[in-house]
Amino acid sequence: MTTIIIGAGMAGLACARHLVDCGETVIVLDKGRGLGGRLATRRTGEGAFDHGAQYVTARDAGFAAWLDQAASLAAAAPWQQLGLEQTWWVGTPGMSKLTGPLAEGLDIRKSCRVETVQRSGKGWALACEGGGTLAADRLGVAIPAPQAAALLTGVTPLADPLDTVRYAPCWTLMVSLAEPLGQAPRVYRASDGPCAWVACNSTKPGRSGEGENWVIQAGPGWSESHLEEDPETVTRLLLDAFSSWSGGLPEIRLSQVHRWRHARVLKALEVPCLWDVEARIGLAGDWCLGPRVEAAYLSGRALAGQMMAAQSR
Ligand SMILES: Cc1cc2nc3c(=O)[nH]c(=O)nc-3n(C[C@H](O)[C@H](O)[C@H](O)COP(=O)(O)OP(=O)(O)OC[C@H]3O[C@@H](n4cnc5c(N)ncnc54)[C@H](O)[C@@H]3O)c2cc1C
Repeated sequence: MTTIIIGAGMAGLACARHLVDCGETVIVLDKGRGLGGRLATRRTGEGAFDHGAQYVTARDAGFAAWLDQAASLAAAAPWQQLGLEQTWWVGTPGMSKLTGPLAEGLDIRKSCRVETVQRSGKGWALACEGGGTLAADRLGVAIPAPQAAALLTGVTPLADPLDTVRYAPCWTLMVSLAEPLGQAPRVYRASDGPCAWVACNSTKPGRSGEGENWVIQAGPGWSESHLEEDPETVTRLLLDAFSSWSGGLPEIRLSQVHRWRHARVLKALEVPCLWDVEARIGLAGDWCLGPRVEAAYLSGRALAGQMMAAQSR
């Protein structure tokens, strides 16, 4: 039986890893050129920036054990924060590398955007951008809820509740400075505004570079109200806000912005995953359980568990 998983973010890779470890044949498809989805790292001439998820925490014992395993493979390390009881984990040397151990040895086809999904006999037929087609006996869809709804509405009733999921957008500014930023805190958080998260990326373990790289994330309200602004305007606004926050910036070597339309889940479905045992199609993602990388991992694992349980019935 061949299973296709659409999406090589944390949810899709956690699902695929478990299936392959159970001896299943799995193909993973992702429209991106890299792996990890919103566990993202942008490489620039001035070093790298984690412009998506900033760090990961574990509440679930299984996820905590997996992070320990990733650390033993040099794909994760704690990002020390004074006075915090909970460990903040980061991917090394960038957040996108956190999924490396899950992806090891999997059949992953990058730059493959799935455009349509159709029932075909007892299985599924997929059409990809550029004309490629693929057939699967079983299908897992691990992409953000709005994208899953666009792909699956009218194809499976599992798509029906997807429009109740809500996400907050996030504008992210990446800045490389020629000199260190003096006395400014290395991590700062506020509930909203242009500087809702300010972090010195260079203080994460395993990062290298001469200057200092900073990541500034606008809060949900600010990002929503500036969602359709052009990148040049947003760069200027966020740089001004960062400069006020820090009391003045040294020479800027590089600044870039990225808009996440669906950044963090505001309203989840509150189920581990969705699964149709008859049609052999399932859905997973952070939107099932909540706005965290851990939620995506648990959802992907839950879907793999459902698939394996159905097989052994
Ligand atoms: C700015 C930002 C900050 C965040 N901060 C944190 C944080 O500090 N801590 C934390 O725990 N979480 C954080 N998160 C949330 C966290 O990143 C997500 O919850 C988690 O990564 C979601 O994983 P996922 O696998 O469900 O989805 P994704 O990571 O979105 O993966 C989905 C994948 O599907 C692919 N895809 C989509 N459509 C198609 C298609 N049609 N065909 C093929 N492939 C497709 C995409 O390319 C992507 O790789 C943050 C997110 C953002 C954006």
